[in-house]
Amino acid sequence: MPKAKHANSTRSHDWSHFLIQKTPGAVITADTQGRITEFNPAAERMTGFSRAEALGRDTGEILHFQGGEANFPLNQVWGGKLEVTEELIMHSRSGQEVPVMISSFALRDERGAIYGGAVIIRDLTLVKRLETERRHLVNMFAHDLKTPVVGTAGLIRRLLQGKLGELSPPQINYLQTVDRELHHLEELITRFLEFARLDLRIMIPQPQDLDVAGECQEVVTLLMPLAEAKDITLSINLPPGIPTLKADPYLFRRVLENLIGNAIKYSPSGSTVWLNAQVEDPAVRFAVKDQGPGISPDDLSHLFESFYRGQGVANIPGFGLGLATVKRIIDAHGGRIWVDTSPGHGSAFYFTIPLETQNTPSK
Ligand code: ADP
Repeated sequence: MPKAKHANSTRSHDWSHFLIQKTPGAVITADTQGRITEFNPAAERMTGFSRAEALGRDTGEILHFQGGEANFPLNQVWGGKLEVTEELIMHSRSGQEVPVMISSFALRDERGAIYGGAVIIRDLTLVKRLETERRHLVNMFAHDLKTPVVGTAGLIRRLLQGKLGELSPPQINYLQTVDRELHHLEELITRFLEFARLDLRIMIPQPQDLDVAGECQEVVTLLMPLAEAKDITLSINLPPGIPTLKADPYLFRRVLENLIGNAIKYSPSGSTVWLNAQVEDPAVRFAVKDQGPGISPDDLSHLFESFYRGQGVANIPGFGLGLATVKRIIDAHGGRIWVDTSPGHGSAFYFTIPLETQNTPSK
């Protein structure tokens, strides 16, 4: 009996060893000091180090990630997290950047004591390439769709203006419906193209000296009629002496238009929407706050995804592209965006534009 058990465990050991050797994912294990104890062939291919070079070396010497030490996956496992899965950019030995999906977890003995950690790395290069190709294709498709839509809308408008003769009331009715639908489609294509160009980095911010107070005031003035139509008060509070930032004025305005536009759109009549800013070195932090319905925890994690619309907004117009676009713009400026909200207690969207890109006067 014990013999059979031994044979089984040997076979399962062979089997798992075989799998680790053949799996396309890099498998790396380390002891609690972070010294490498296993390094499979996929790890050799992905990192550019041979097994013999890697064994016994510190994981930090072999694995390099964008963001440095703070992003080192096993650090979080040593810090107490059971398992961490994340997307990172890995730098191979030759300096090549490889997009990867990393799962790291602690290795425990029968009593649960940690005796090491394991990292499994999947190369996402092909997935990313296909994803980018798909996005380019959709972008081209949307671009080609725009010309006939704009052209057709122009012809319909000419008909409605009576340029080709008088129309009967039912004909006007039909054409007005077609006109509205085309307008909606054109707006969707325009918003999508804006998002897609930022996402694909075809549209790159053109930073200039940004007159923060002037730009904020301009957007508020532009959106005032929208707010007034809902009896919403728009309040703007900017501290004096906000430094001139380096940012793309058009894109900065698009951020404010989207955030303030949403705040007005989702808030009840008679409420207030605030635009605040404050200097919090190393950035200027902007806040758009409202007294609207707030956002549910289920929606929160998807908020910045393209075409995502929250629960219960089906009867409010929108394409679900505003926040996705805003996020791309803020990312492209090196800033951060986040939201503080709870259902029934309004929402506060915060974003930062770093001061380091500020046009500081030469000393
Ligand atoms: P859209 O407004 O066109 O749906 P967005 O990308 O701008 O798309 O917003 C995504 C979703 O986030 C919205 O559908 C809505 O559910 C939620 N949302 C955004 N801003 C607010 C806000 N100020 N208050 C409540 N919900 C909001």
